[in-house]
Amino acid sequence: GYHKVVKENMNLHNMVQDLKGNIRVYCRIRPSFNAESKNAIDFIGNDGSLVIIDPSKTQKDGKKVFQFNRVFSPTATQDEVFKDTQPLIRSVMDGYNVCIFAYGQTGSGKTHTMSGPSGRSTKDLGINYLALNDLFQMCNRRKDIIDYEIYVQMVEIYNEQIRSCSENGFTLPDATLRSVKSTTHVLNLMKLGEVNRVVSSTASNNQSSRSHSVLTVHVHGKDMSGSTIRSCLHLVDLAGSERVDKSEVTGERLKEAQYINKSLSCLGDVITALAQKNSHIPYRNSKLTLLLQDSLGGHAKTLMFAHISPEEESFCETFSTLKFAQRVSTVELGAARLNRESSEVIQLKEQIEILKMALANKE
Ligand code: ADP
Ligand code: MG
Repeated sequence: GYHKVVKENMNLHNMVQDLKGNIRVYCRIRPSFNAESKNAIDFIGNDGSLVIIDPSKTQKDGKKVFQFNRVFSPTATQDEVFKDTQPLIRSVMDGYNVCIFAYGQTGSGKTHTMSGPSGRSTKDLGINYLALNDLFQMCNRRKDIIDYEIYVQMVEIYNEQIRSCSENGFTLPDATLRSVKSTTHVLNLMKLGEVNRVVSSTASNNQSSRSHSVLTVHVHGKDMSGSTIRSCLHLVDLAGSERVDKSEVTGERLKEAQYINKSLSCLGDVITALAQKNSHIPYRNSKLTLLLQDSLGGHAKTLMFAHISPEEESFCETFSTLKFAQRVSTVELGAARLNRESSEVIQLKEQIEILKMALANKE
């Protein structure tokens, strides 16, 4: 009885998600680390509403209201956050392309959500690990019906250059994907990525990442009838979104900042173009959007985590993150599409290829 109810709820959940469109925005507020600073968060609603207070507005109350699919308070645990992400991740196993990205200023908790606390701790691991763990469990549960293979690839985009991660550090992007069989495998790869990731000092955080880090999971499945599933999950930890004061940085730092601003605004442009159902979507304007192309658009499911810091000092960046997130959340995309092909379709495609070759030979 219980399981049936759970299953029905899940189906209903998926249906509701499909009706609502495929872009969701969750906001996560990290705990405050400064007991002395005032809190800019006024109200967190269970329904995804959020109110912040602009400290510079002394005359009026300065309250600004936002609405998202969910807001996680500073006390939310990694497991709670994962629970609300799990249905999306599971849909990858059914053949949907999914993109999950963490956006926000440096120090707002992006890496915490995606990877977990930095260092060697295996406590509080983030979505990257929990997602793969869940996918492996699903492979196992479905092994009598579907034969799955999981491949991962870790790349970093730094100054508009894509580098993939290997034992020898970051190298040029290679097409070789790693087949992974266990989460230990993945953990090792993630550690490697962390070590290799470009870190440098900025005014706001001396361990800040100036690169976008993308963990891509490819799922290949085949069932008894020969039907195949090919889908991918992009897990993205974006570079800090803060606007850099040009008078403060020069040289390399300024160049990094300009590249980051450019690629984040391209991400915004792509989402806006999708929202307006433009015939041309400017994926090619940045390496980031190019990389995410297949999982960012009409047929894929997208989840954005808007990360904010609660302190009053961060108000300007918080406000700008929330405005970007609000723009993303108003996007309405059509229904997601399954990347699933029956054995008949595959056979027909093969026949077409054979005929094409025969035709080419004739000419
Ligand atoms: P970002 O990747 O956005 O620059 P981090 O994830 O590195 O930010 O977070 C900055 C610091 O705050 C880290 O020390 C991190 O462990 C801590 N932190 C962030 N979010 C949380 C959270 N929800 N709970 C506890 N600590 C957090
Ligand atoms: Mg980070």
